[in-house]
Amino acid sequence: MKQNVLNTDLTGKVAVVTGAGGVLCSHMAKVLARAGAKVALVNRSDEAICRYAAEIVEEGGTARAYKADVLDRIGLEAVAARIEEELGPCDILVNGAGGNHPMATTDKEYYEPGDIDADTKSFFDLDDACVDAVFRLNFNGTLIPTQIFARHMAKQQSGCIINISSMNAFTPLTKIPAYSGAKAAVSNFTQWLAVHFSGTGIRVNAIAPGFFSTKQNEKLLWNEDGTPTARTKKILAATPMGRFGETEELEGALLYLVNDQAAGFVTGIVLPVDGGFSAYSGV
Ligand code: NAD
Repeated sequence: MKQNVLNTDLTGKVAVVTGAGGVLCSHMAKVLARAGAKVALVNRSDEAICRYAAEIVEEGGTARAYKADVLDRIGLEAVAARIEEELGPCDILVNGAGGNHPMATTDKEYYEPGDIDADTKSFFDLDDACVDAVFRLNFNGTLIPTQIFARHMAKQQSGCIINISSMNAFTPLTKIPAYSGAKAAVSNFTQWLAVHFSGTGIRVNAIAPGFFSTKQNEKLLWNEDGTPTARTKKILAATPMGRFGETEELEGALLYLVNDQAAGFVTGIVLPVDGGFSAYSGV
């Protein structure tokens, strides 16, 4: 039995993690490898995943890096075939690729009269193509890999899919309407897929991380001189535990949801790991 907080043993299983070049999902890839899974790290750019895969191998685990865009169906199908040949068919899929775009983000939290003509990026200036790109990355970027990697799961009548949602799926955050809507769609899709696959032995759940300070959101959270932005102060005031999450704190949620014994009757949930953010009304 591999040692981890839940004694989850994934020996012999193959886990595919998309967005594994990022802060949160590189850690998830390592956690799955330490639990015994053979891990395919998938990312649009390959520099970081090659490094993370090498780190896993150095620790004694099994991992390989695969460069692929989750929105490029043909490229991803080719990569899936390579993964199957080199590691085996996918048992666990973590749909981690996701993110926002600055041109789908308003400068201000609240619209003020005159903003439409002012030198500020207001709601009226949000760029169509960028709004589209955010929806496609987060929603289609979850759906397409699921279509590709869950094929084998549907045939073998077992498997586990973990989507990555967000706090803004429960209640939208200011400034990021496209990202909020897209993550709400990811939570909704998690429920849809759990129901759709309920007779197949495939469980589908999501993790909704609260606030973690990563590369993805650093410009929103930290000024160039390293001091916290006004948004950081607001986030911490709205997080009852009063701090950002540590990446390691996602480990228990992940190991629980992929554990077929511990979570055998759990499908269709969106599990917040958020220091109480989603429970707090602010009063
Ligand atoms: P990150 O930006 O560090 O990592 C995202 C990774 O996805 C990057 O390595 C990027 O290269 C890759 N990627 C982007 N587009 C891709 C594509 N089309 N195909 C393949 N790979 C692609 O982000 P993170 O903070 O580690 O976030 C991971 C997931 O968690 C994302 O879905 C994010 O939306 C979500 N999330 C993050 C936080 C947070 O506080 N950081 C909170 C809630 C949810």
